[in-house]
Amino acid sequence: MPKKYLTESQREKAREASRKYRAAHLETCRARTAASERSRRASDPEKCREQLRQSYYRHIEKRRADDRQRNQTESRKAYKRNRYAKDPQKIRDQQKARHLLHREHDRELARQRYAKHADDINAIRRKARQEDPEKYQKTERENRLRHPERSRQTANAWRKKNPQRTTVYNNKQRARRRAIPLRDFTLAQWQTLQAAFDHRCAYCHKRCKGHLTQDHITPLSKGGSHTLSNIIPTCKSCNCRKHTGPPPIPVQPLLL
Ligand SMILES: [Zn+2]
Repeated sequence: MPKKYLTESQREKAREASRKYRAAHLETCRARTAASERSRRASDPEKCREQLRQSYYRHIEKRRADDRQRNQTESRKAYKRNRYAKDPQKIRDQQKARHLLHREHDRELARQRYAKHADDINAIRRKARQEDPEKYQKTERENRLRHPERSRQTANAWRKKNPQRTTVYNNKQRARRRAIPLRDFTLAQWQTLQAAFDHRCAYCHKRCKGHLTQDHITPLSKGGSHTLSNIIPTCKSCNCRKHTGPPPIPVQPLLL
């Protein structure tokens, strides 16, 4: 028997009739739909759950966007503020418990966020630091005390990744500890200085790119300043050998 196809006008007629029927018998229709849903769920609960899950993940982006938007409304914000004000400790505990369950996920999200908005995030941190340096330092100190091992690892990794900055920072610290009044030597100057010496030791002329040390022509211990006109790049062994004595060969400080 050949299949019978309805024409478009017939189909529209059928739709209209069913709409009318549904409007006239709304309660019955709803009850029927609900009953059929119930029996479908009862017949194979696992399959239904799986379908729900799939539908959830199929529209995950939209669902998340909806959630985000919902959380941005004023009433929702007020609700959250209220809830927090009522029992802050409880909310913090809940958040902590959730974080412990999903730590890796949270970290991954934070990493992604940082990768995407590194400049913005750094700018915010820099601003916070400038606005209230003491508070910033206090928080940093507390973090270090709370996670000593992790802090050490992070610091070591940073030093390994930024050897030039580390050299500049360490030398400046030395000058600060000795209370040298003039200590304005910068990273940019150190880089220019090394390049001007072709990354060679000013005393033995050995090329040691990336391993040069800052030698103070007049040692800090003898009142030398930590500034461009008193610093030349040398290799480690020449710097050690010179120690606090005079330069082994006459050197001309670089004037940029
Ligand atoms: Zn040398």
